[in-house]
Amino acid sequence: MECEMLNNCPFYNDKMDIESGLGRMYKRRYCKGDKMQCARYMVLNELGEEFVPIDLFPNMHDKAEKIIAQNK
Ligand code: SF4
Repeated sequence: MECEMLNNCPFYNDKMDIESGLGRMYKRRYCKGDKMQCARYMVLNELGEEFVPIDLFPNMHDKAEKIIAQNK
């Protein structure tokens, strides 16, 4: 199921061109694939949107786990 954040995910608004090579890959893999695997979504889901750093890339799972562990 498509991620409900897709139209206003700050990652794509401020950090990454959604139609660039890497942006497209992330979009396909996470936003339109499995959002539960997205590092940004993991933090958002556990802690809330305000805990998601702008520079957290969807594939930074270790960092996401650290943020979650530190703020739980
Ligand atoms: S980067 Fe993650 S949080 Fe943002 S729209 Fe894609 S799946 Fe959702």
